[in-house]
Amino acid sequence: MLSQEVLLKQRAEILHALCSSGSSEHLERVVDMLLAQGELGWEDYQNVLVPGRTLYCNARQLLDLVYTKGAESCGLFFAAVKQVLPEAQGAGLFSSEFPSSSDDREKPQRTFTEALLTQRPSLISKLQGCLDGVLAALVESGHFSSSDCDGVQLPIHTPSQQARRLLDHVRSKGESAAAVVLQYVEHTQESRPTLEETSPTLNKEFVKYRKKLSRSVSAQSRFLSTYGGTSHMPLDDIYTDLHLELPNSSGDDYKSFDFEDIFGPVGTVNEDADTVLVSGEAGSGKSTWLQRLHLLWAQGVGLQNFVLLFPFSCRRLNSEQRDLSVKELLFQHCCWPDREQEEIFQFILDHPHLVLFTFDGLDELKQNLVDEHIICCPNQQAPVHVLLFNLIQGSLMKGVRKVVTSRPEAVGPGLKKHLQKEVHLKGFSPSGINCFVRKHHNDPNEAAKVLESLQANTALLGLCHIPVLCWIVSQCHKELLGCGEGSPQTVTDVYLMILQHFFQHHSTFKGAVGVNWLQQNLGTVLRLGQLALEGILNSSYVFSVTDLETCSLTESDICMGFLIQTKNMSLVHSICYEFLHITMQCFFAAIYTILSSNTGRSVIPKLFELHEMKKRSLSSACFYLPCANEQTISEDHSTTAESPNLQITATFASGLLSQRYRKLWFHCSSSVLLEKKAKQAAKCLSKGMQQHFKSIPQPVQGEKKSMHAMPEFVWLIKCIYEMQETRIAKDAMSKLEVDHLKLTYCNIGPVECTALAFVLQHLKNPVGIQLDNNSVGDVGVEQLLPCMHVCNSLYLRNNNITDESIRKLIDKVIHLDNFRKIALFNNRLTDACTQHFSYLLKTKQNFLSLRLGNNNITAEGAKQLAEGLKFNNSLQYLGLWGNKIGDEGAKALASALQNSNSIVWISLVGNGVGSAGAIALSNIIRNSTSLEELWLTENCITRTGVESLTQALKHNDHVKSVWLKNNDLSSAEVEELQKTESRLVF
Ligand code: ADP
Repeated sequence: MLSQEVLLKQRAEILHALCSSGSSEHLERVVDMLLAQGELGWEDYQNVLVPGRTLYCNARQLLDLVYTKGAESCGLFFAAVKQVLPEAQGAGLFSSEFPSSSDDREKPQRTFTEALLTQRPSLISKLQGCLDGVLAALVESGHFSSSDCDGVQLPIHTPSQQARRLLDHVRSKGESAAAVVLQYVEHTQESRPTLEETSPTLNKEFVKYRKKLSRSVSAQSRFLSTYGGTSHMPLDDIYTDLHLELPNSSGDDYKSFDFEDIFGPVGTVNEDADTVLVSGEAGSGKSTWLQRLHLLWAQGVGLQNFVLLFPFSCRRLNSEQRDLSVKELLFQHCCWPDREQEEIFQFILDHPHLVLFTFDGLDELKQNLVDEHIICCPNQQAPVHVLLFNLIQGSLMKGVRKVVTSRPEAVGPGLKKHLQKEVHLKGFSPSGINCFVRKHHNDPNEAAKVLESLQANTALLGLCHIPVLCWIVSQCHKELLGCGEGSPQTVTDVYLMILQHFFQHHSTFKGAVGVNWLQQNLGTVLRLGQLALEGILNSSYVFSVTDLETCSLTESDICMGFLIQTKNMSLVHSICYEFLHITMQCFFAAIYTILSSNTGRSVIPKLFELHEMKKRSLSSACFYLPCANEQTISEDHSTTAESPNLQITATFASGLLSQRYRKLWFHCSSSVLLEKKAKQAAKCLSKGMQQHFKSIPQPVQGEKKSMHAMPEFVWLIKCIYEMQETRIAKDAMSKLEVDHLKLTYCNIGPVECTALAFVLQHLKNPVGIQLDNNSVGDVGVEQLLPCMHVCNSLYLRNNNITDESIRKLIDKVIHLDNFRKIALFNNRLTDACTQHFSYLLKTKQNFLSLRLGNNNITAEGAKQLAEGLKFNNSLQYLGLWGNKIGDEGAKALASALQNSNSIVWISLVGNGVGSAGAIALSNIIRNSTSLEELWLTENCITRTGVESLTQALKHNDHVKSVWLKNNDLSSAEVEELQKTESRLVF
């Protein structure tokens, strides 16, 4: 293939190969070679490497240029690329053969300036080791002024760029200047070998050092570090992709970053800078992300452009009191070379683009990074923070790539202007949460349960976007499901764990003996709590510095990580803060309410006040989490967000007032005061319940007394649950006298089910519990088991329930005398659950109603059910609407029920039943003494089937109707058949 064609065909790949590292070095080296070979002139050179234009633009310009110059130029271009990027060929790029380029291709050189040009590539590499000396020689010979030197040595340029600038400058100074350079280089080369041609000993030592370093990096990054210390979870097993975004990117143009993208051109704001900042809130996964980067490098699977990687933790650097040079910093803090230290360090200095430094947690650095002391010499000693600033801004070790992680507010504008780019770490995406939980729980069933309960609990799910909270919540579930002693039971437990985590994560010293973590941080808790409570009471979620000052919040309170700086505040340019999460604000407000002696007597009743729900959408929120937009709306227009937040606060307050925590508060508040508050809260809850019970209408005669619970009822139940006090639950239920409790559309998920079971188990008389149209799920079903003994009918229509929970449910209810009816319409049941129902039917001879409509039950499932039905003589209602039992299933059921004296109602609507099934079902009509209604609408029954049903009806006068709408009958047939039997409904 012609080289021009290859150039066109592989344009994208070539561009990627040249530019994807984000460094212009590859491109510039290719240009150097083409210049040396005379393929590019000076004008071309200036047209290609335009300062300020993006790297990709420059590279495209070069491709266009060599293409228009013709096949030979293209061939030489390929040869140059091959030399600069030998790995590109390995990756399948330009596999055709092209002549190999040689930067020292001998050409007769008539002048020194020409020699400077033809030897340009090798001169650039040689000059990097002796730039200062050449400049000195040029100054001495009168060719260069000091401003010429400054122009060459601008710190924003990499050493190779400085060498190029020098050559370009010398060219304009004429022959004698060029002669000085050539002579100087020749002289130094004689006295010192180039580092490219390093001695075999250095090569050997270097390889050893690289291995030692990568082993040490690998050992440090292999296991996930968690707040409880380093866990034994391999990072490879648990690492979950994080969501990284460019600042100001809207949802539409969001770009997620790969590790390799981090140095690429996307998002670059300063091409000459070498530092990338990865910023994110506390717990958003910055350290873990960096740890992953280290591990990928150490395992040899990523970032292999870098020969050496030096990882630093700012927290650890804080303990370095001495002044250090860069060499000491690298070798003493990362990895010590056993031999040839000088040479290895020289290699680093000469090949900065092959080296990567990482600094984790810049925000944790004690000293401020300020532009106070510029140092350029790598041997000069300075305090660590001074070294760091100079490294990041590039006056030291220019060309070495650096990745820095920090909380966003810790990086001021002084440092920001030296960044190549900033990338925001956003934590887990929704699929990330899913993935993390699956990795965190070895048992897939356990993981599925956790996920289900998270899906159903918006509050916890919301928190899980922050990886650290996801970890805590997932861990709590692990313990919860394992039911280990002392495992968290309530949302309050989970938040207290979070609180403890943050404090322990930040404290560098262990507290005095006998002083618990809360006592140690009580001041911070109360100050944050006051801010939070005032915010909740005034519907305010964003706080100015003045607000913070009013509550006496200190810098170190802010640093704990519960408050984050808010973005996009259009109001003022000043800094504003908000709580990490709205629920976190509620939690702090609740702590303040219970611990502070300044809150006044009315605060508790105010929290527990019942609010008339104004909006239906809000009314379903039991643990409501306003999203950011809703918060803004509430600030601007209404106070609708207020009552849900008060309710969340009240829920937490109930939890915190639980007897279980009295010990924790022991030295933090007066126990008399706490007792008073606990009584007040219990009274409020009891009053709230009474108000609900009073709203229950008297039943119409002959009907059951039914209560349709308002969402606030569920909230009150949850408060009681958070308290974990049986006495209060018993008391609340002692006054509830209903036959049917309707809790439809109440946003009831597993967490609410747990609370309901905790409270409802104390009901005096069995009730029907109707939970249709919620998100109970399998986890919720399990949570409900403890109250099944007070349940006579369980309605769980449309609740995302699978076969999984059915076995456990049936195992429980099969022995409960009161339990008579179950409705599971529109869930995700399959044939797998039918064996359990079959067992129920066989065993429980007082069971009345089984409704399994709109699931995925086929003929096989129907056959299983039939097995149970054969031995059952109590079932009255059998609903299988919208399944797929077909003729075979209908036949099995018919055979089981044909002599039933209990069945009253059967629905096989929409089940693909044809005439064969209808003929079989005729037997039930013929023989049963109890059947009243048979629903066969929306099937494919033809005339033959209907005639069989008609014949059977002649022998039965109990049956009231047989529904046959929408079957395979013409209107003439319908008209005719209708005349023969009036109980057929078409
Ligand atoms: P940051 O440095 O932003 O404060 P960390 O990296 O320390 O956050 O993350 C806190 C915790 O969150 C980790 O200990 C780990 O349990 C979990 N975590 C964070 N990122 C990830 C990830 N990508 N994959 C799995 N777990 C993670």
